[in-house]
Amino acid sequence: MILLKNHNFIHRSEAKTDIEDRGYTFGDGVYEVIRIYNGAYFMLEYHLNRLQYSLNEVGINYDVESEDLETLLSELLNKNTIEDGAIYLQITRGIAPRKHPYPTNSQPELYAYPIPVSSPKKEQEQGVHLTLVEDLRWLRCDIKSLNLLYNVMVKQKAVDSGAYEALLYRSKDHITEGSSSNFFGIKNGKVLTHPANNYILNGITRIAVQKICKSQGIPFVEKVLSVDELAELDEAFIASTTAEVVPVTKIDDVVIGDGTVGEIAKKLQAGFLQLI
Ligand SMILES: *Cc1c(COP(=O)(O)O)cnc(C)c1O
Repeated sequence: MILLKNHNFIHRSEAKTDIEDRGYTFGDGVYEVIRIYNGAYFMLEYHLNRLQYSLNEVGINYDVESEDLETLLSELLNKNTIEDGAIYLQITRGIAPRKHPYPTNSQPELYAYPIPVSSPKKEQEQGVHLTLVEDLRWLRCDIKSLNLLYNVMVKQKAVDSGAYEALLYRSKDHITEGSSSNFFGIKNGKVLTHPANNYILNGITRIAVQKICKSQGIPFVEKVLSVDELAELDEAFIASTTAEVVPVTKIDDVVIGDGTVGEIAKKLQAGFLQLI
């Protein structure tokens, strides 16, 4: 496997993390997971734009365009010849003695490398169960930060309870998203999802769903859902780069619709396949 480290291509065995990388000590960095279909990046421009947004919001001095990251990533893809998979990319604030203030002389550290990803076919066909967990993350969930401690804690909670994903809520009136996916309800033919603000990460797959809705004439409505409203939904699904569109048939004890994969979810899955 060939990795991209800053501007260099190296072998897996040559990759080293410094103990004083701020990504390691503080989780001081941001990341992206970019899907590859048929040997090409999917929605790469969107990922690079979001990466620049995250970098700007946390004040990491890295310019995606002037570093020519897009070219470096296509070279990375060529060197690894991936047909179907993904690239994990992270940029930390760099290596410096462990002191909280931003170092004045550190260089951002970038790593990008292939990770195995394949579409969860069974879940996409049969639907999955979610479990509700309180959203105790910070209030800048719009940044794709390396700090995923609470996200991994709630994902483990979901796994332990036999659910595919955790569905997070700030209060009973405010459902936000999954631990690593966006959540969508469907009611009376409309797709309902949390507004893209600081409470959620605006997924690239969420943007893809928005595009598909537009092209298929399905209303896409940004609306905060309550826990009580879950029982009233006709359908539900989650979406992310690795999951794509996965229908939800049950949330804790609440059966969604008739408990089977719904028609609109199937339409969106078909639209997603067309997009790729
Ligand atoms: C990455 C992520 C998503 C999904 O984003 P995609 O770009 O569609 O993969 C949703 N929620 C959280 C918390 C995430 O980290």
